[in-house]
Amino acid sequence: MSAPILPGATVGVLGSGQLGRMLAIAARQMGYGIAVYSPDRASPAGQLADREVIGAYDDVGAIAAFASTVDVLTFEFENISSAATDAASSATLVRPGGWVLHTTQQRAREKQWLAAHGIPTAPFAVVRTPADLQSAVAAIGTPAILKTASFGYDGKGQRRIDDPGVAGAAWDALGNTECVYEGFVDFTCEVSVVAARSARGAFAHHGVVENVHAQHILDVTTAPAAVPHNVADEAVGLARRILEALDVVGVLCVEMFVTREGRVLVNELAPRPHNSGHFSIDACVTSQFEQQLRAICGLDLADPGQHRPAAMANLLGDLWEGGEPDWARLAGLGDVKLHLYGKRDARPGRKMGHLTALAETGAAAAARVTAARALLRRSR
Ligand code: AMP
Repeated sequence: MSAPILPGATVGVLGSGQLGRMLAIAARQMGYGIAVYSPDRASPAGQLADREVIGAYDDVGAIAAFASTVDVLTFEFENISSAATDAASSATLVRPGGWVLHTTQQRAREKQWLAAHGIPTAPFAVVRTPADLQSAVAAIGTPAILKTASFGYDGKGQRRIDDPGVAGAAWDALGNTECVYEGFVDFTCEVSVVAARSARGAFAHHGVVENVHAQHILDVTTAPAAVPHNVADEAVGLARRILEALDVVGVLCVEMFVTREGRVLVNELAPRPHNSGHFSIDACVTSQFEQQLRAICGLDLADPGQHRPAAMANLLGDLWEGGEPDWARLAGLGDVKLHLYGKRDARPGRKMGHLTALAETGAAAAARVTAARALLRRSR
């Protein structure tokens, strides 16, 4: 095992959005240098970095050159080719390893990996041809969701199928590209576990949190989730198995469904800090970003313990529709924390920032944070 990478060293990030920005804050706090690589200038992460390098994600040579200037490289953007991560690995330490990115960046590959490792998921079939689609519909039935295998996020590239007769049209609408046909899960709630694994194999997690989505985008996270102990134990156990089997060094989020029968089914993996873990900045001894920094630098993980129940509400660009949100009204709310990501253009659905509230219970925190968000909206 390589020696720990200590404060004073430079951490590199491929990708420059809010996840990189919050990692940069943790890195600066602990005295690390931070360099980001992305096609964008003055990006959310670049605003806080020591160095912002502009380059394309498919420019293998430029990524390798960037890698050679940092002591460890991680990523927040997932659609980076194996050729690029391989080239980076020959120039510096890449954590988590390129195989983690390769496994999780393509939905069919990820689902097949989960199935091969005995991790419960919704019934699924990979669709590459019209015949595959026909047999998927016959085997799994409806309702179902057809999801593109690549480049899908926040519900993009998905079609719900209620009637077998429309499956062909749905596949056409998705461009007849490789897809995963998935049985629709009648879930009681969606939960996630943000967990970390150190270079020595130690495991730590930020508990089981409940996620409510609006239009396929995370809206509110409540931490902890109001689920029975056995469900929470099952969710954490699955996360641990996944991080260990994938040999993750870093942070990985596991998104899951809890069914009416209390079963826990894995939906998706994200090999990095996750929106549903943002509450940890204000509510935990150690945030998901500090944990990521520690893991990739080969330090021991720190205490992820949560001080009080908490809830996080996303601030999407839609909130800007009536003009700049009324920030002054937040100033009077001493228990609600504002995080803005430094994005200039507030487009609908774009994640511009989030709020976190702490309270006596998760439900009270969720009520508080959504009420605070409503105060921000200016009427048109
Ligand atoms: P995904 O892009 O796979 O994370 O899906 C986005 C959202 O769509 C999830 O958070 C769920 O709310 C919903 N969804 C995805 N897959 C299923 C499924 N198999 N059954 C029910 N709802 C789903």
